Amino acid sequence: MSNVYLDEREYTIKSEVTEGGISYMNAVDFLNISRFINDCPNCGHDRVGNGEGTLSVDDSIINRTCKCGFRFEYDVDSGLSKKNIQQAIDEALSEM
Ligand SMILES: [Zn+2]
Repeated sequence: MSNVYLDEREYTIKSEVTEGGISYMNAVDFLNISRFINDCPNCGHDRVGNGEGTLSVDDSIINRTCKCGFRFEYDVDSGLSKKNIQQAIDEALSEM
């Protein structure tokens, strides 16, 4: 388990032991996606923790939730283009 410090907020990056050892999400991949979801795409709330919302990484999956009910899950293996990420966000918004 390791921590990434960004904008004075702390995100916990979980890792899982795989057959090849410990896998971590590439920090650049994480930053590429997190800039789209730091501010909740639904309500604009930018806080995580203390029941306000969550932002976590589990292997290749990024999870972002917000107290407004927004829930977003993205597999970085799906690609890192802005179009792909925006589409996933739009889908999450349409499911609310
Ligand atoms: Zn929200």
